[in-house]
Parts: sequence; C-alpha cells; structure tokens
Amino acid sequence: MCGIVGYIGPREAAEVVVGGLQRLEYRGYDSAGIAIFEPAAGLQLRRSVGKLSNLVARLSREPVTGHVGMGHTRWATHGNVTEENAHPHRDTSGQIVVIQNGIVENYLELKARLLELGYQFHSQTDTEVIAQLVGHYYREEGALEPALRRALAELRGGNAVVALCAAEPDRILAARLGNAGGVVLGLAQGESFVASDVPAILDYTRDLIFLEDRELAVITREGVTISTLAGTPVERRPVAVPWDPVAAARGDYKHFMQKEIHEQPRALMDVLRGRIDQEAGRVHLDDLRLDDEALRRVRRIYVTACGTAWHAGLVAKYMIERLARVQVEVDYASEFRYREPVLGDDALLVAITQSGETVDTLAAMEEARAQGVPSVAIVNAIGSQAARLADGGALYLHAGPEIGVASTKAFTSMLAAAYLFALRLGQARRTLGPAQIRAHLQALVELPGKAAEAIERALPVCAELAERYHRASDALFLGRQVSYPVALEGALKLKEISYIHAEGYPAGEMKHGPIALIDEDMPVVCIAPRDGIFPKMLSNIEQVRARHGQVIAVGNVGDTELAAKASHLIDVPDTLPLLQPVLSVIPLQILAYDVALRRGCDVDQPRNLAKSVTVE
Ligand code: GLU
Repeated sequence: MCGIVGYIGPREAAEVVVGGLQRLEYRGYDSAGIAIFEPAAGLQLRRSVGKLSNLVARLSREPVTGHVGMGHTRWATHGNVTEENAHPHRDTSGQIVVIQNGIVENYLELKARLLELGYQFHSQTDTEVIAQLVGHYYREEGALEPALRRALAELRGGNAVVALCAAEPDRILAARLGNAGGVVLGLAQGESFVASDVPAILDYTRDLIFLEDRELAVITREGVTISTLAGTPVERRPVAVPWDPVAAARGDYKHFMQKEIHEQPRALMDVLRGRIDQEAGRVHLDDLRLDDEALRRVRRIYVTACGTAWHAGLVAKYMIERLARVQVEVDYASEFRYREPVLGDDALLVAITQSGETVDTLAAMEEARAQGVPSVAIVNAIGSQAARLADGGALYLHAGPEIGVASTKAFTSMLAAAYLFALRLGQARRTLGPAQIRAHLQALVELPGKAAEAIERALPVCAELAERYHRASDALFLGRQVSYPVALEGALKLKEISYIHAEGYPAGEMKHGPIALIDEDMPVVCIAPRDGIFPKMLSNIEQVRARHGQVIAVGNVGDTELAAKASHLIDVPDTLPLLQPVLSVIPLQILAYDVALRRGCDVDQPRNLAKSVTVE
C-alpha cells in the first residue's frame, strides 16, 4: 500500500516521479518524498507528511530540477508518520539515498550493530538502516553496486529497494527481495523507469521487465542490466503489456485467483502497516473504537461470519482465547441471526467479511446492536456496510480488491488481522507483556517472507499432485486444533472451483464416520505441522494408511518423520503455532487451483457462486 517511482532520462525527473506516484495514489499512504540529483547542488530531498498534494505544494515552493531521481509514498510500518521517517533516507555522508517498500525483519539487530559502530540515526524506520548499511559498505567498496549487494545480503524480509548515489548519477539501482514488494522496470528510447507497480509508468512505456526475487537491476538511460544478488547475469526480454484494462489488472497471471494467491506476502505485510511497534512491543489499532477500559470489560466474544471468513473465525477463536484469555463462540451468521442468541452484558461481536456486504453477517451485526452489544468488523472493502455498522470500529485488511470468487488473500489477511486483534486485547487485558508481544510481532513480520517461501515450495509439488489426482471424485481434508479450520478451508477451495466433492473434518473425529469412505482411491489431505498435537495427528495418519488411503501431508520443512509416513509431503516453513494456518493453507489454495485448471473449470467464476453474497 505504498509506492516507488524512479526515472533517468531527458525529462524533468521530478515531474515523471510525482506523476507516477499520483497514479498509485489509490493505494493510500501517509507521507511522500522525492530525491533528485541536481548536477550543481548534488542530491536534493523534499519530503512531506500527508497527501501527495503536500509534497507537490512543497516542490512548487522549493523546486528541484534534474534528470535522475526517485520518489516514494510511505505507508508506515516502523516509526510514526513524521517528516524524518518519510523516505528517501540518507546515509551518514548524505551521498546515498534509499527508498524501500516492505519490512526489514532484522532491522533491530542491524541497527544495534551500526549504533555500536558509531552511526547515528535520524529516524525510527527500518529503511534508514538500509541506507546506513549501504553507506558503511560504500566506504570500503567505493562504488554503490557492490555496497548495495553487501547490504542486501544481510537483510531479512520482503523488500523492494531503490538506491541512488551522488557520485554515480548515471544510474539507479533497484532490487527485489522476496515477494512482498514488486519491482517493474520500464524501457523507452534514451530513458528508463522503475516502479513498484505498472500503472505508475504506463504513460511512458509498455515495454516492461519484472524483477524476480533476489535480483538487482542497474538502470541507466540506455536500458537495464539484471543480475541475481549472487552476481549471475540474467537475460530477460521485456513483455509488452496489453491495453485491455482487465487483462492489464491481471498482469502476468492467467487468473485473478492465481494473482491473488501470489499477492499474499504483500497483503500480509499491508495488514501490519501502521499497527505495530516492535521496539516498544505494542500493537496500535487506531481504527478500533474501543479503548483499553472497554476491552478489559469484555467477557465473551461472538465471532460471526460466512464461508471462508467463518473458517478464519474458527482460527480467531483459538487466537483470542489463548492470547487474551476471553471466551469465544463462533457462529455462522445465517444461523446466529435466527437463533435468538442471548448475548448478555459485556459481550462483543466480531464480524468477519471480505466484502462487508454479506447480508447474513450484516444482520448478525444488527442483532448485536439491538441487544446493545458493540461490534467490530474485520473487513476488506473500505466504506462497506459492515465497516459503517461496526460501532466498535472497522479493522481493515488493506488487502486490495479480491476479484477471484474463491477467497485466498482475504483469508490469510483475516487471520493476520485477527491475530493483531487478539494481541491488542491481550495487551489491554495484560495477559501479554511487551516482551511477549514483541516475540509475536517478530513472528508476524516474518510471515510475508515465509508465505512467499510457502508459495515457491508448493508450486512444483501441487502441479504434480494435481496431475495425479485431478480425476478423483472425492477428497478428505483432516486437521486438528488450528489446522482443523485449515482442513475446512482446503476442502471448500477444492469443491468450489473444481467441483470435486471434498470434506474437511477434525482428524480425531474421522474414526466416528468418515473413515468408512477411505479406500485406495481416496486422497486424504492431512495438515500436520509440528505443533503440540502433532503426535496425535501422526496416529490419525496411520489410521488412514491402514485403510490404504493416499495421504497428502502438509507439514513443516525438514519433517522426515512425516515424509516417511505420507504418500506425498508438501512442506511449509514453520512459525508460531497460532500463525501456522496462514502458511498451511497456501498449498491447499494452489492445489485447488491446479486441479481446477486440469479439469477445465472456470477458476475465477465458478458455477453458481457469487463473490459477495448479498441475498439470504
Ligand atoms: N518499513 C517501511 C517504513 O515504515 C515501509 C515503507 C513502505 O512500504 O511504505 O518506512
């Protein structure tokens, strides 16, 4: 939810950069800044808090002129919204400037090291750490590219980084680490562009090159040279983007669902923005209208939702009960509204909905209101009815539009938002202290990078599994504890887009019925991360194997024990147990997508289904 634009060529760089940032304005941000190289005066920075128009006004009072430069709109993750925290950030010499989209997961560690070396910091951002680190290595290397490479090698997390050095004004450097921040390069006669998103540069060129994970581009007037961070040259021809707006919005992807699966690392980062303070170990949910006092009074929470959001609600129950020690009930909104619920005093309703227009969820919120119970909405669509009805505040996902009917990025963002909410509750109720919250926040900031890894790992395995099992007529998905809702979600994904009958079940319950279905043709997907319940899950897997079922296990990377027991293993990185569903569900989304493709189904618009269910 923030943007980057850079330019080198004959035009006024400030105009191209600001114009490009304006194209990205829909994404929202809280400060903006620009760095332009002026041949006579060196690097010139202008930064302003608030809307881009504030920066534009500033530039008209204090103009900058030059033919190479870059700009940034920031949506804060680390450090308040202030001018000092606005990008670009400089190194100590003031000769190197850096902008970043993303999060440096290990910035505290790097900052401590740089402080020890005597560097002084002027902002609270993670981005200044990159600038200082590049500056540090520049003193040894005497050139930007090797200095940037050395700095990038030490960063953890998903980032798009762009850097400029006053001593080398013939080039801009851009790099991408992980999947959380995109980098697109634009080529034209005698000029080149770099941006976080395609629309920023479409006015100038349609010949685009997309940087892949761990690649670095040297951008000059003549074109771009790409290499991996390890230094291997990369040959990549530009792609010409289409004019059709729907095709343009789909970008490189065949389907919106596929695009949205790949957008998850970025969406997982966007949900954290402006809401966490890692140093203090605190969560700020400014959109919540309940203060500490009100949060302490809550004795019971009713989570209500439909479909995929209901699955997110089931996971939210575990999160809230474990982290904030409040009793939680989860209901289908369509059931809740008609069961004459007794909510009682000191209750809170949490409604989860992507569209914010799901009619049953809205009715559940009305019911709560009628009983004098406040509601909080965890919702994606800005300004939707649910957001307006939520008198306790709307916790926005900021995941961007979700077009594919089968929800993917909204689901994982809901889980991250619910986690933030549970931490916020725990903070108010003092079930969690700053040190504990800090540990949870660290896991949250590492999640986008791990989601990217989960996608990479799943792609080849799921393609193979889909080839093998796409003719199945039924499938069973099993999990326990937080992995049980993941099983439900995996089954729902498969049935809604591939029309294969699939059931999600708590693994411990299988022997009370579904086990009768298992034979050698039945794929049984078992979600078995290494959590406290793992040994029990392993016994359930044995029970499936004893009936000759085909076990497709989703487990943690390096789990040889599980690999030995399963017919196939899809491995995902590990994280804190309550966050594991975010990673475990990713291969199930990809598997459903791959199977549906092989069955020739309309993935984005499956039969009989609507994206937002506004009828009963
Ligand atoms: N971590 C960066 C900051 O807080 C994020 C910048 C962005 O992506 O907008 O400055």
